[in-house]
Amino acid sequence: MSDVEIKFLGRGDAFGRGGRLQSCVLVRYSRGQFLIDCGASALIGMNRYGVDPNDINMIFISHLHGGHCGGIPFLLIASQLLYKRMEPLLIAGPPGMKEWIFQAMEIFFPGSSRVNRKFPLEIIEFKERYTEVLRNVATTPYPNLHHGDSSFSLRIECDGKVIAYSSDTEWTEALCDAAAAADMFIAEAYFYDKKIKGHMDYLTLIHNYPDTRAKRLMLIHMSSEMLATPEKIECEYAEDGLTVKI
Ligand SMILES: [Zn+2]
Ligand SMILES: [Zn+2]
Repeated sequence: MSDVEIKFLGRGDAFGRGGRLQSCVLVRYSRGQFLIDCGASALIGMNRYGVDPNDINMIFISHLHGGHCGGIPFLLIASQLLYKRMEPLLIAGPPGMKEWIFQAMEIFFPGSSRVNRKFPLEIIEFKERYTEVLRNVATTPYPNLHHGDSSFSLRIECDGKVIAYSSDTEWTEALCDAAAAADMFIAEAYFYDKKIKGHMDYLTLIHNYPDTRAKRLMLIHMSSEMLATPEKIECEYAEDGLTVKI
């Protein structure tokens, strides 16, 4: 079984706290590379950490918040104009993904959604708990407790390894399905113990984590309060640029 490599191109929240880039995780497996989320700073992360956007063949989006998908318009336009992409790109995300992409492109760069693209773009919209198998990667979205409709955690299986990604959510039993016996559970820990609607605090996560039976936990999406007290964190947490193998 070959290793799967995970590179954190951005592990911050939407607001740049601690100077961290927005949510964007690169996964390298035997058939290529894909992104989990693509925050507005995704291209900065790729440039900073030596990732060629043309090597990415799929993007999986957890929910339609700019800190998680705002990089798509920039990536599509850069792929066309700057990187001269020819290879197909597949984007899979929540219901409304297709409309969101074209609206965002029109807002940021009017007319850009209608240009004759030189690379095929396929957009797939997830259905809750339905597994999409795309280029040997099986992705299953589970419902999150977050703001707005259609916000998912993702269970992603490739090369015999399982990556679970909580994205933004309060603790929900669905995370036990998403992260069941996962090789790596990438989870948000927004605050240490403060409970706010739509997000998860560290103590709640640590309390419930054993129920998932996941093998490894990696924290992301931390607030200034969490970033200021690393001595209180007793598990791994990602920095921008961190690369791990599972
Ligand atoms: Zn977020
Ligand atoms: Zn969000």
